[in-house]
Amino acid sequence: MENVNADAINNLKAECRGEVLLRGDAGYDAAREIWNGMFDRKPGIIVRCVGTRDVMNAVTFARANKLLTSVKGGGHNSAGNAVCDDGLMIDLSLMRRVHVDAQKKVARIDGGALLGDVDTETQIHGLAVSGGGIISHTGVGGLTLGGGFGWISRKHGLAIDNLISAEVVTADGKLVTASADENPDLFWGIRGGGGNFGIVTSFAFKCVAIGTEVYSGLIVKKFENAKEYIQFHRDYVRTLPDEMTAWMVVRHAPPLPFLPGDVHGKMVVVVPFVWLGNEEEGKSLIQPIQEATPSHGEAMGMNPWTGWQAGFDALVEHGARNYWKSHHIKGLSDDCIDEIIAFGGAMPSPDCEVFIPHMEGAPSRVPVDETAFSYRETPFVLNIHTRWQDAADDESCMAWARDFHAATQPFAKGVYVNFLSEEGEGRVKEAYTETVWDRLVQIKQKYDPENLFRMNQNIKP
Ligand SMILES: Cc1cc2nc3c(=O)[nH]c(=O)nc-3n(C[C@H](O)[C@H](O)[C@H](O)COP(=O)(O)OP(=O)(O)OC[C@H]3O[C@@H](n4cnc5c(N)ncnc54)[C@H](O)[C@@H]3O)c2cc1C
Repeated sequence: MENVNADAINNLKAECRGEVLLRGDAGYDAAREIWNGMFDRKPGIIVRCVGTRDVMNAVTFARANKLLTSVKGGGHNSAGNAVCDDGLMIDLSLMRRVHVDAQKKVARIDGGALLGDVDTETQIHGLAVSGGGIISHTGVGGLTLGGGFGWISRKHGLAIDNLISAEVVTADGKLVTASADENPDLFWGIRGGGGNFGIVTSFAFKCVAIGTEVYSGLIVKKFENAKEYIQFHRDYVRTLPDEMTAWMVVRHAPPLPFLPGDVHGKMVVVVPFVWLGNEEEGKSLIQPIQEATPSHGEAMGMNPWTGWQAGFDALVEHGARNYWKSHHIKGLSDDCIDEIIAFGGAMPSPDCEVFIPHMEGAPSRVPVDETAFSYRETPFVLNIHTRWQDAADDESCMAWARDFHAATQPFAKGVYVNFLSEEGEGRVKEAYTETVWDRLVQIKQKYDPENLFRMNQNIKP
């Protein structure tokens, strides 16, 4: 790296237990890869940390040499912030330990762990961490710092609502604890404010007992009845107990074994669900969904939690091109449904999907000023997940997402920071209320006054 003294790099190598990689080194290209194939950035240096001291060394080095710095957790964020051009990438992907204290129901999780790592270890004891998302190769780090929701968060809360404490390396290279008792301002900020305030090397989460199997499944609805079904769904799911989570995905049907061959590739409305309770009760709550409008097929039963949590992974493997546009939705009015059907029916590629999770429940009962996650009361999220393979299709695919997003803006209120693309400061602000934003700016000023951590949905000091 031309602008950094070779001796300084050699010192960094000597100090770190993990690898320090430069362009051309073995492993450099694999380490800079992230989930979204749109980004092919080449950092000047990659520090593959294996422990907290490596993270502290890397932060100190970045600051001393005034390097643009990115932090890679699971590398999943669609905005591509985990990797930078020319600067220093602090790669946490070797830090994936999960330790579960089954008696205390507490999981200590390294900052680079993936959701699948957490399920693997917590399920030994029939436990789970609520708010972990729905794809097992997503990183705990980025997901948690933005909020974190998943199949059981209606019952047990967002990831941040279950966070007890975090070990954070701040911009001055020091390690601090953030919890209700220690540095409570930092603890408030990292619960929704993203990676703006430091690098979390370890999270401590409360676990919940869910057993090792859940009643869960998929119902695949015919797209020709989409309006009628979505009208039913928007009202029905809001009557369900928090133990039941039923979402909607508008997409082309994947080649699921329970669907007739001629349905594969057709537009459908998929209704995946998870029920935390006894199977018979779950069946009776699902029956109205089955009966609402005609289905192409369905599959449901008691499924192993770890299997269910990884069940959709193959639909969103690494490497494809992705562009997300998203917002929280105040309600699925008939006009909003018309837009979803019109744009949904005109998807520019067979890999796109419109993901509409229902969010209400335990997260909405947490007082809104308790964390930096601002929009707890909106019932639905609308995530326009544009996904395609060929760079030649970039413009048409992104234009579809932007137009769809603009058409549904009248029904929106705020956005989930973790679902933002690179959309500028104005959009980041839309993830927060004004009061929350002002408080986040003050915390940023205190913990990162020079904005070292700016490869993220940035809050400027
Ligand atoms: C296929 C897919 C499915 C998803 N499903 C869900 C879901 O069900 N629920 C949900 O809530 N979200 C979901 N998300 C969104 C997800 O929460 C974000 O993409 C999140 O940023 C991923 O975190 P990461 O660590 O993998 O990403 P990265 O790209 O590595 O990091 C994202 C941001 O967080 C920062 N960061 C990461 N780790 C740390 C750390 N330890 N300390 C400080 N900063 C850190 C990075 O610097 C970056 O700015 C999904 C995303 C994808 C791609």
